[in-house]
Amino acid sequence: MNQSINPHDLGAHAVADDLFTPVDPAAFNAVSPPIFQTSLFTYDSYEAMEDVFAGRTRNYIYSRGDNPTVREFELLVARLEGAEDGRAFSSGTAAITSTILSLVEAGDRVVAVRHLYNDVYRLLVKLLARLGVAVDFVDPADHDEVRKALSGAKLLYLENPTSFVFELQDIAALSAMAKEAGVTTIIDNSWATPLFQKPIQHGVDIVIHAASKYLGGHSDTVAGVVVGSKEAIARINATSYPYVGAKLSPFEAWLLLRGMRTLRVRLKEHERSGLLLAGRLKEHSAIGRVRHPAFQEHPGRATLTGYAGLFAFDLNPDIDVARFVNSLRDIRLGVSWGGPETLVVPAKVALQIPDRMTSFIRFGVSEQTVRFAVGLEEPELLWSDLQQALHAAKR
Ligand SMILES: *Cc1c(COP(=O)(O)O)cnc(C)c1O
Repeated sequence: MNQSINPHDLGAHAVADDLFTPVDPAAFNAVSPPIFQTSLFTYDSYEAMEDVFAGRTRNYIYSRGDNPTVREFELLVARLEGAEDGRAFSSGTAAITSTILSLVEAGDRVVAVRHLYNDVYRLLVKLLARLGVAVDFVDPADHDEVRKALSGAKLLYLENPTSFVFELQDIAALSAMAKEAGVTTIIDNSWATPLFQKPIQHGVDIVIHAASKYLGGHSDTVAGVVVGSKEAIARINATSYPYVGAKLSPFEAWLLLRGMRTLRVRLKEHERSGLLLAGRLKEHSAIGRVRHPAFQEHPGRATLTGYAGLFAFDLNPDIDVARFVNSLRDIRLGVSWGGPETLVVPAKVALQIPDRMTSFIRFGVSEQTVRFAVGLEEPELLWSDLQQALHAAKR
């Protein structure tokens, strides 16, 4: 009963038995955690299995539920955010969808900041609308408008700052308003990470990360995680997580644990390079507005203890967007962010203006807006590249 591999199944009769004794995961004082790349866990007896299923003893059952490597990642993010528990998913979007589905039912209404992450916008206006859940998009700076919208709502959804426009929100004031109205507050904290913003300390109930971005940090994994009270996570576990089935793989959880060991030093570098380049772009004659939270006088800045490397800038009308990005040599075109590589995304391409996201234009994004994810390269190299491409793209 104590063998993890039965040698007879392999036709290997003459192999020493001790080779097949399961390895104690705590053995060897390994500095890197083991990967429990297993789909299921076994029991020594009927009684032992029954005890686990009845909840009398805690043990793992099946990796669509819990897995030790994934659990380590979930609890690490929970600790960093000051939350009681966490649940990981195969993508940030799966974490967001499963969290919202655990809280709403037909007839409910969600209040969301007006230009949140694109696929969450679509989730709310397409899938949730079909399920009978309404949504109100609000200007988060207009607290009267938010207060009105919160009355009778179920959820308040924040993203401080939003990821294309970088609009800030006073998350302490907004979550206090929500609490007063009996509304649960969720925030997407992917931009700041728990190192630069700890929303639970400011009254937010549930924190979600696209771990694909800074937590993983190496552009090699798509993953998500949600943290909050034991009760909030238990609700997700009971109502959506096992049935959505979007579990994180043990190997990817291990990649995230590996990436997070350098989160602090990576973010410091993203912040330093980001501020340096944002400051220089702001002074450049080819650039209009630079959308970086550091340049906004707003109470939403108070909860940020640092600045991530993702921001946006508007090219002046005499700069051709396509020619600008085509002239970049070291900086590449690509979606996502949070990895070592510096990437640009023209708003015109990513948002398919004006077909899909006319709302973004109303909120100040133009066809000249370019999102800029500063990576970990030497910032002077990036600055030279930007300068030569801006010069080459002049009409
Ligand atoms: C990328 C992203 C998501 C979605 O995460 P996925 O892992 O791609 O599903 C959610 N929110 C923000 C702000 C993001 O940038």
